[in-house]
Amino acid sequence: MTYQRKVILDELRGVTSHPTADEIYQIVKKKLSKISMGTVYRNLEVLSKKGLLQKIDISGKQMRFDGNVNKHYHVRCIKCGRVDDIFFKPLEDLEKKLQDKSDFLLLGHSLELSGLCPECK
Ligand SMILES: [Zn+2]
Ligand SMILES: [Zn+2]
Repeated sequence: MTYQRKVILDELRGVTSHPTADEIYQIVKKKLSKISMGTVYRNLEVLSKKGLLQKIDISGKQMRFDGNVNKHYHVRCIKCGRVDDIFFKPLEDLEKKLQDKSDFLLLGHSLELSGLCPECK
């Protein structure tokens, strides 16, 4: 792993804010002043393919990144857009029940919860 890639991953793992690529670039630039936006994007892509980070697709917004690759759920504030983790074991029962309703072979699911964060509520 290149040094740049390591710094990107370390910084991402150090936050729980689920930053966008732009935000990661701003954070990483403090350590690697010469790094370009393109390099950050490319490295995020490689790290995601290797399974070292998670890309999370929050409805209607920019792609966000998560340094925690264990399965967990996300809750999004409908007012300010903050995304927090909800640690709860994957609802495998739900998949089993839904399998009966679909001809697809179900391999997983994503569930995004929404609400108001402590500051907005
Ligand atoms: Zn909020
Ligand atoms: Zn998360």
